[in-house]
Amino acid sequence: MGVPFIDLKRFEEGFADAFTEKVRTLTANTSFVGGAEVQKLEETLCIENNVGHAIACANGTDALQLALRAVGVGPGDTVLLPDMTFWATFEAVVNVGGRPVTVDVNAADLQMDFDLFVQAVEKHKPKAAMIVHLYGWASARLKEFRAFCAEKNIPLVEDGAQCYGVRVDDASVYAGALASTISFYPAKTFGAAGDGGAVLTDDDEIAARLRSLGNHGREQHYAHGSVGWNSRMDSFQAAFLNLSHPHLAKRLDSRREMARRYEKDLPALGWQCLKPPANIIENGYLNVTLHDPAKRPALEAHLKAKGIGFGMVYPGAVQDQKGAQGWIAGSVGGDVARRVSTSVINLPLFPYMTEPEYQEVLEACRSFSG
Ligand SMILES: *Cc1c(COP(=O)(O)O)cnc(C)c1O
Repeated sequence: MGVPFIDLKRFEEGFADAFTEKVRTLTANTSFVGGAEVQKLEETLCIENNVGHAIACANGTDALQLALRAVGVGPGDTVLLPDMTFWATFEAVVNVGGRPVTVDVNAADLQMDFDLFVQAVEKHKPKAAMIVHLYGWASARLKEFRAFCAEKNIPLVEDGAQCYGVRVDDASVYAGALASTISFYPAKTFGAAGDGGAVLTDDDEIAARLRSLGNHGREQHYAHGSVGWNSRMDSFQAAFLNLSHPHLAKRLDSRREMARRYEKDLPALGWQCLKPPANIIENGYLNVTLHDPAKRPALEAHLKAKGIGFGMVYPGAVQDQKGAQGWIAGSVGGDVARRVSTSVINLPLFPYMTEPEYQEVLEACRSFSG
């Protein structure tokens, strides 16, 4: 039969028709950019995540660039970021004129390492820092990162592209951040029908800057207070997200359920399967298993032969990307990110994965004799 790594086609009964109908109405009204749907989405984001402001934008990468600009990062400013993340985190720093310095990740939770981060702050005196909540959970030491940055006056931008639905100490992971970002790319846990993003903050001034920067630095319609760019969200994406939202809890529960079963069943097969830190409820974005790098190619071949899709998130450390050369201004720590990149395999995980599919994946894992 085979099981894909991800299948986004499993919409709830009636969902696709409801969206088609909505597109018809928005088109008839020529409600194309911003407007009531975007406003409704922003309100939902504020209420659900307990934050004061949500500013929708064009995508998750722009959300990072808006957040960096809004907290004051500009040309020549040093910004710390983890050595294991999606490339957009690095790009965002460079695109706003910053000098990126990578910090290695922690071997236990695979998030940026707090002790190395403290060392990196002392050594590089950054203007700002970015933390990334990767794999569908977050650092066990998130509160310490926030407190340390607040004490040192280092604005901390939180890349929350992958973590919609993550709970830390029973609150939304986004709550309490100075500025955190969301990506609504279709494959993320709260996915749109195209690109979309948002920045969340409690700070009124940061919120005002975000809103203006993503709309050509506008203060009024033709009064431009700064040089921003166009990063507005279109109404179709907001409408798709608004229609998705009532189903989101079920989608997340279904992801979490399978994530937990992997965490329970794979160790019984002798596999190393990562689990979120104890104070964090994951959103089931990704399954993460680690293997002996020498054996990983054989495992890849085995899964391919069995028709089981898989991912490698991520196959390289940030500092080793060709595109980093010429931009990277330093890297702090060891080679945990590198080692993870040579040993990681992500098994299929998506909303409404079925029991037979799960059993087929598990059977393929069981029959691997690496
Ligand atoms: C997806 C992702 C982004 C970028 O989001 P887009 O909406 O694709 O621009 C940034 N950071 C991380 C960690 C991501 O996973």
